[in-house]
Amino acid sequence: MKVCKFGGTSMASAQSILNVKNIIEGDPERKYVIVSAPGKRFSSDIKITDMLYGAYEEKVETGSCRYKMAIIRERFVELAKELNLDIDMNKYIDEVEENILTSTSPDYAASRGEYLSAIIMSAVLGYDFVDAGDIIKFKHDGTFDSELTNDLVKKYKGASKGIVFPGFYGRMPDKTIKTFTRGGSDFTGAIIARGVGAKVYENWTDVNGFLVTDPRLVDNPRHIEVLSYEELRELSYMGAGVLHPDSIFPVQIDKIPINIRNTFEPSHKGTFILHSTQGYNIPRVTGIAGRKGNTTISLKKAMMNSEIGFCRKVLSVLERNGLSVEHVPTGIDTMSIVLSEKGFKGLDEHKLVNDIRGAVNPDSIEVTHSLALIAVVGHGMANSRGIAATLFTALYKAGVNVRMIDQGSSELNIIVGVEEKDYNASIKAIYNAFFN
Ligand code: ADP
Ligand code: ASP
Ligand code: MG
Repeated sequence: MKVCKFGGTSMASAQSILNVKNIIEGDPERKYVIVSAPGKRFSSDIKITDMLYGAYEEKVETGSCRYKMAIIRERFVELAKELNLDIDMNKYIDEVEENILTSTSPDYAASRGEYLSAIIMSAVLGYDFVDAGDIIKFKHDGTFDSELTNDLVKKYKGASKGIVFPGFYGRMPDKTIKTFTRGGSDFTGAIIARGVGAKVYENWTDVNGFLVTDPRLVDNPRHIEVLSYEELRELSYMGAGVLHPDSIFPVQIDKIPINIRNTFEPSHKGTFILHSTQGYNIPRVTGIAGRKGNTTISLKKAMMNSEIGFCRKVLSVLERNGLSVEHVPTGIDTMSIVLSEKGFKGLDEHKLVNDIRGAVNPDSIEVTHSLALIAVVGHGMANSRGIAATLFTALYKAGVNVRMIDQGSSELNIIVGVEEKDYNASIKAIYNAFFN
């Protein structure tokens, strides 16, 4: 049995939904379907999820969400009409609008794109609808309850009729709706795949699988045939947005392969993500990914390496400020801490620097914003010489100043930090050096 997740572009228009229908009906094993909210139909379009977050903001600011909801209403009513469905979408939207007015977090609003999308898809397919709130569960502290969820999903194993599930959200013990982080429908799909014991988790999107790098930065990057779970985790965490980085956790337990496919080119075999890629022709580098929006705190102190507890003291200050750390490259007398800029929002930077000064009395401390991180990832790197030479020569030739270097202990990745203005040129230069 196959579990299939369809992303926002696949659910964006009546035409794309009919493509989805054809794909599902083309294989009787495609019994479990997870859908995202309708995404963009054209580049300047707005995703339903973004619109729903906007509706919640509108209600916070004005006490009503009528303007944003009118646009959302029009889109869903039109979809149902174009698909000739006998569903009163207005009734559903009225209920959503009413509930947004009494909700106290944006999660309920944000989740309704997936909810309504699944109502539509189940009508199109004649499949059952199962609400994600009834099976995807969170604990009191807001973390995902994987084992309770798995027990609830298991009940649908071997179902005789097909089922459509909304992605992206679940329910807290107090019954309120909670969403995963953005792109979280991929994670829902992986949870269902584990629970029903799927032989494959098909993730249908708008590209022919995983590409070596972001197709918005490099024209026609090469396609990746197979990828390991570990490589996927590195690439997606570092910014390859095609799959949510947490998607591997539920499926790796039973080694269920993920197959990324293109709704708009269903004959393409896409990319397989497997427990191990041993036995395949492994390239030197599998993929390149990156993201902007990072900050580094660089500390210098003579003989830092012999000062017991130095790193712990610095990291404790960050912990007390609720900051999570991405990378910590160190030298004998230097320590850099790379953090996501998001964590800095609303934080008193001056106080943070003073707290670190107070804790370890460094010779100097410097905070640099707007750092882009780029990861070069692949199991093949461990066994080939000259990877670092190729990488740094490419960046040198492109005139890029490398601000930070970090190599993972597993030799699965090398991460470099560059200024944001050099980000696009760096990705292109690294791609060309390894793949052209
Ligand atoms: P969905 O709505 O189907 O979940 P997403 O927009 O989340 O789709 O992910 C697919 C998009 O990810 C592609 O359209 C592409 O622009 C982007 N992308 C970024 N990096 C990569 C990559 N390495 N390979 C393929 N696509 C990538
Ligand atoms: N609709 C949600 C988002 O835009 C979840 C998803 O598409 O996976 O983030
Ligand atoms: Mg996605």
